[in-house]
Amino acid sequence: MSYAKPLPVADVETQPFWQACRDGKLMLPRCTNCGHCRFPPTFYCAKCNSAEHEWIESTGRGRVFSWIVVRHPVPREVYATDVPYVVSLIDLDEGVRIVSNIVSVEPEKVTAGMPVRVIFRTVTPEITLPLFEPAWQ
Ligand SMILES: [Zn+2]
Repeated sequence: MSYAKPLPVADVETQPFWQACRDGKLMLPRCTNCGHCRFPPTFYCAKCNSAEHEWIESTGRGRVFSWIVVRHPVPREVYATDVPYVVSLIDLDEGVRIVSNIVSVEPEKVTAGMPVRVIFRTVTPEITLPLFEPAWQ
């Protein structure tokens, strides 16, 4: 499978996240000391500095915090067939903010606070991307 776009590179902190995406689950590390969810995944809690954590499955639901509509792709040869597309900051139910694309909706219909839910798109054998679509569909 050939995929010409830049892809995330899993490392020791993010490997469980990407493995879960391949399994169709959105998993988040949650601090077992204070309960704070960490995203992007990190070894240490930003609230209490504990290294203790467990992986929990997210509801996959959240709301649009902010977004942009990309109309001028860079580099053009890579993204020309994708425009316009939406890049969004999404506040998940678990209290973390994730950057992703919003799909299955016309970009002009995206609004602040819009409920969204995760879907998964396999792009290579190693990487399945978590994307979001409106939750009313
Ligand atoms: Zn903590």
